[in-house]
Amino acid sequence: MDVDAHAEELASTLGIDKAEVKADLENLLEYSVPIDEAKQSVRRKHGGGSGGSSPSPSTVDLAEITTDHGNVTVTVRVLTVGTRTIRYQGDDITIREGEIADGTGTISYTAWQDFGFEPGDSVTIGNAGVREWEGEPELNLGDATTVAIADEEVAVDATIGGDRNLIDLEPGDRGRNIEVRVLEVDSKTISGRDGETPILEGVVGDDTARLPFTDWDPRSAVEAGADLRIEDVYVREFRGVPSINLTEFSTVTPLPDPVSVNEDAPRLSIADAIDTGGMFDVEVVGTVLDLRDGSGFIERCPDCGRVLQSGQCRSHGDVEGEDDLRVKAILDDGTATTTVVLDTELTAAVYGGGLEDAREAAREAMDKSVVAESIADELVGRAFRVRGNLSVDDYGANLDAEEFAAADDDPAETARSVLSTVRSRAATDGGAEGVTEAAREDTAGPDHDGSPGVGR
Ligand SMILES: [Zn+2]
Repeated sequence: MDVDAHAEELASTLGIDKAEVKADLENLLEYSVPIDEAKQSVRRKHGGGSGGSSPSPSTVDLAEITTDHGNVTVTVRVLTVGTRTIRYQGDDITIREGEIADGTGTISYTAWQDFGFEPGDSVTIGNAGVREWEGEPELNLGDATTVAIADEEVAVDATIGGDRNLIDLEPGDRGRNIEVRVLEVDSKTISGRDGETPILEGVVGDDTARLPFTDWDPRSAVEAGADLRIEDVYVREFRGVPSINLTEFSTVTPLPDPVSVNEDAPRLSIADAIDTGGMFDVEVVGTVLDLRDGSGFIERCPDCGRVLQSGQCRSHGDVEGEDDLRVKAILDDGTATTTVVLDTELTAAVYGGGLEDAREAAREAMDKSVVAESIADELVGRAFRVRGNLSVDDYGANLDAEEFAAADDDPAETARSVLSTVRSRAATDGGAEGVTEAAREDTAGPDHDGSPGVGR
């Protein structure tokens, strides 16, 4: 059911104008309010009541709760409390979000007012609504909900409090606390709902990972090199990877001791990396099975940068293309497959030449595809270590490479992944090692000594 259909249904139930209902709904959905909650709010606004939810909730264990429940009463331990503001009908509403647990399980909640509970508190929550959020039940604490201190402490297995390492953060996390070093930070001004808004964007790191962040309430303590404890951040997906968000409710405290930052990216199997849903900085090792179309000597649209297909841009039609070099390689490590994308510099390094060399080779052969063929000869069937940003969508995984080097550091792993591939040629063939250093040098170009020298 799309927003239009929901609006239609609500408008006919409430006997009011559909356009008005739809505007209200869209406003709420823009702030990630789930559709069921949004409909309830719109119903309340127009005096339609709560829509027939059960008036007498039953007491249940968390593990028993399904999305079929109407309202429930639970006795739980509060694990985390995150604070965030959303805008509804022109007003800013402060909500609390997090997780609660009992001896049987854990569930997330959203509280539409401040009930005053904190991580570690044992409470009985009466008459909480159950709603579905991304396929899972979630508790909704609203006007009809009561919260009372429980008679006894509730024993739980789950971690109490929001302290986490960066590697454990996932989109959807609320009320998290991190101890990090600010590695990069930039001031920016964005045009938001309230006009020009200054924000900070950058990267933080600890000894488990590095992640991008946005500070929506810029503060001077967030500066490059600062070691900070930051409490009450939330995590959302931005450009395919988890991103940390600081709000006006986040607290930033300088740490007396330096935070150790791991310069290496965590190395994962491709399957495990994909399972995370996206990683800002990850290293995988696998064998190149093949190159995808659109590799080698390509042309991009001068307006939007898209790769042209038969001289045509998908958005701008017939345009005068700009030459570029790119590789889209299929990398397999026996657990899964990802597309690895090499930018101009990394492609030049594996090709052993820059744009001019590619033009010349294409001219000589009167065929652009000789460049991709030459790159394929260097890559296909060989194992590589790739570091970069992994994003996952409906079409599969994409790893935007920042480093691309022959995997000569772990012969056993290399051998295993080579064995797992469909092509076995070149398994014992040397020559790929030269890529190692060349690939790491941003300046690697036609004259670079370490370049693999693709039989030109
Ligand atoms: Zn275009």
